[in-house]
Amino acid sequence: MGTAVTTTYPTADLPYPEDAPVSQALFDRAQTVIPGGVNSPVRAFRAVGGTPRFMAHGSGPWMTDVDGRRYVDLVCSWGPLIHGHAHPEIVAAVQSAAALGTSFGTPTAGEVDLAEEIVRRTPIDEVRLVNSGTEATMTAIRLARGFTGRSKIVKFAGCYHGHVDALLASAGSGVATLGLPDSPGVTGAAASETIVLPYNDVAAVEAAFAAEGDQIAAIITEAAPGNMGVVTPREGYNQQLAEIAHRHGALLIVDEVMTGFRVSAGGWAGLHPVDADLFTFGKVMGGGLPAAAFGGRRDIMSRLAPAGPVYQAGTLSGNPLACAAGLASLRLADADAYKRLDELATTIGSLASAALTEASVPHRLSYAGNMFSIFFTDNEVTDYDSAKTQDAAAFKAFFHAMLARGVYLPPSAFESWFVSTAIDDAALEQISAALPHAARAAAGS
Ligand SMILES: *Cc1c(COP(=O)(O)O)cnc(C)c1O
Repeated sequence: MGTAVTTTYPTADLPYPEDAPVSQALFDRAQTVIPGGVNSPVRAFRAVGGTPRFMAHGSGPWMTDVDGRRYVDLVCSWGPLIHGHAHPEIVAAVQSAAALGTSFGTPTAGEVDLAEEIVRRTPIDEVRLVNSGTEATMTAIRLARGFTGRSKIVKFAGCYHGHVDALLASAGSGVATLGLPDSPGVTGAAASETIVLPYNDVAAVEAAFAAEGDQIAAIITEAAPGNMGVVTPREGYNQQLAEIAHRHGALLIVDEVMTGFRVSAGGWAGLHPVDADLFTFGKVMGGGLPAAAFGGRRDIMSRLAPAGPVYQAGTLSGNPLACAAGLASLRLADADAYKRLDELATTIGSLASAALTEASVPHRLSYAGNMFSIFFTDNEVTDYDSAKTQDAAAFKAFFHAMLARGVYLPPSAFESWFVSTAIDDAALEQISAALPHAARAAAGS
């Protein structure tokens, strides 16, 4: 790595070749020293096939792979990069923080600045900074259990909350099922405390609480699901969850790791206020560096060590570089930025839908604020079961046709597309030019 690559650009007549020799060579090396060749499974392109592209550098809306091919990025590192790649102010913030020392293992001013910014934007009283969304949800659950003295957790099928043992139990739908682990290595005991319910189904939640409400510590839900594709919560759904939980002495944990600071200054709760007890954050708040958080009511947060007995810690938590990047990113995320993200999401979603309609490809365009995805199905998508009615082959053909024309989409049909404020006319032009080809590829799949 580090060798200079010559950047090439696709044209309608001359898409990128299907093979990517430099990426493939790296992937071959990676597979001998990293399980599956990747450090997070969905990067491996298993759902779409082909060679995962190894990226060399990014700038604004573009990223360039090691074969020298340039793409418009509609993944944005799975959400964090709302200002695109290598934004000069974020890079400068990280550089000046690094020059002052990368980590101290003591409190630093940047942590206070970032915590204040998060508390100012959200309904929470106090926040604890951690390194990943997984850590945030894991600890929120521990805290909910510690606070209530109860053990069970309700989660929804298709909602992802990181790879926390108890939350990898997402199997089961239609009725309340006893959680069965999705992954070997998650013990039955860890999963058996998890009740998995279908999403958007208030009656199922009422029934679960009627049966064992006095044992349930918390409901955890994605603020608006983006991990089964984007599924819009029914009007008032989150607030209904809060009311059911509170009636039974349980807490509501709203997971805004994906939506937080992306769909509005205050996340999904900024658009649809909810009386949640705890919130989790990640992705955007780190500005592309590892940072995440959980926070909530003061009486609950004060149960956390060292103020209280519920233990949680982290060697690199509140890391100065991550705090600097996160704060710079949030300070750039003003009302104009959110307006721009919303416009871009509407524009790109509509362009894609129009191209698919033109090619007679059945699809559903689904939004949660400026997060959106396209389900390759005729059915209305309201939960994981309906999301799974998608035509995987159509998505696969669509994905590769876009990739060959320089548009990088999430390599799975069950993921949100993410826009950045950096998307300009040239990037939009590249997306528009690619879409009719991709729609025809999906139609012919
Ligand atoms: C990404 C995500 C997580 C996990 O965050 P990591 O930083 O990948 O551990 C948790 N919850 C939601 C809703 C997410 O989208």
